[in-house]
Amino acid sequence: MEEKKINPQPNPDTTSAEISHQHTHQHTHAVLNRMSRAIGHMEAVKRMVEDGRDCSEVLIQIAAVRSAINNIGKLILEDHISHCIVDAVEHGDHQALEDLKIAIEQFVK
Ligand SMILES: [Zn+2]
Repeated sequence: MEEKKINPQPNPDTTSAEISHQHTHQHTHAVLNRMSRAIGHMEAVKRMVEDGRDCSEVLIQIAAVRSAINNIGKLILEDHISHCIVDAVEHGDHQALEDLKIAIEQFVK
């Protein structure tokens, strides 16, 4: 797993999202790359099912995709806490903390 540090430099694909969110999320590019990889992986698993591959092999690949998706969530959470939540605490934004609590409850289920 490569963990590249990406400069918070807006590119045409992320500019609008960064403006609306008003925070620098240092892992956005890594999140997008990992999402693309997970989608590709899931498509490969779909082909395995279509080709009638061994169910145990399919299950192992599903577990791998699930773990990859979980790690994407952790990365998003990390970014959110280091930027949005730090900012919310500084500005006494209790709603952001409530929202995070609800999101974590769903995420760790
Ligand atoms: Zn955030």
